[in-house]
Amino acid sequence: MTVAATEKIRTFFDGFGGKVTPFLLLDYDGTLAPFRVDRFQARPWAGVRELLTRIQQQGRTRMAIISGRPAHEIGPLLGIDPPLEVWGLHGAERLFPDGRSELQPEPEAAREKLKMLRALLKCDSFGGLFEDKANAAVMHWRGASVCMARHIEKRTRAMFEPLAGTGGLELLEFEAGVELRIGRDKGGAVEAILGEADADAPVAYLGDDCTDEAAFRAVNQVGGQSLSVLVRNQWHDTAAGLWLRPPVELRGFFEDWIRTLERCR
Ligand SMILES: [Mg+2]
Repeated sequence: MTVAATEKIRTFFDGFGGKVTPFLLLDYDGTLAPFRVDRFQARPWAGVRELLTRIQQQGRTRMAIISGRPAHEIGPLLGIDPPLEVWGLHGAERLFPDGRSELQPEPEAAREKLKMLRALLKCDSFGGLFEDKANAAVMHWRGASVCMARHIEKRTRAMFEPLAGTGGLELLEFEAGVELRIGRDKGGAVEAILGEADADAPVAYLGDDCTDEAAFRAVNQVGGQSLSVLVRNQWHDTAAGLWLRPPVELRGFFEDWIRTLERCR
């Protein structure tokens, strides 16, 4: 890690103290857990579950997961008890730790268009993996050959792009896939969560993919101490202010978080 990165982390943790509740907002896939072609096998990096459990047990941090998955998929994979609050579907859905959930309402016209796409893609998904979400139609090509991935992407874009920007539908690109969706993005989820925070609360958001960029930008606009963190092994162009390579530097960051809160008890 560079001297500048170490300094950024130190400055961020200097903002902890007093009665302030820091916010730790986390993407799941690629950030807390390595990718798997079968996404139901994507378990956290070694040690991450234990570190997050310790942060939870300290009772000083407000934690939430913000994921593109349906929110209910996260709890069983993350394996933290009691479960964390999860904002699913990139922020369109909120699942509280007590099991209550909220889904943003969809405009009727968009719902009809998505219904039509689902019917078509269930018959022919061009060799990709079609995922049917409550607010979106999603195509994945993770694990496909380069040639096949190109074919799936081309066919999917030809179907999705004419509908993007109409009736509330938006195209969302991510690594090895694309989705046509309605509702809040991860930046909107961060803003909604921080709407419930004290203005001087330190906030960190950790994510790995292009869908996390909206969340990075939202965190960067926070007035107090904030840290937007790109977690991935290969750098890519990003609005994030810090780059951590998982799992070693990620674990180090959580260990620093725990130590900082222990010190300012
Ligand atoms: Mg991710």
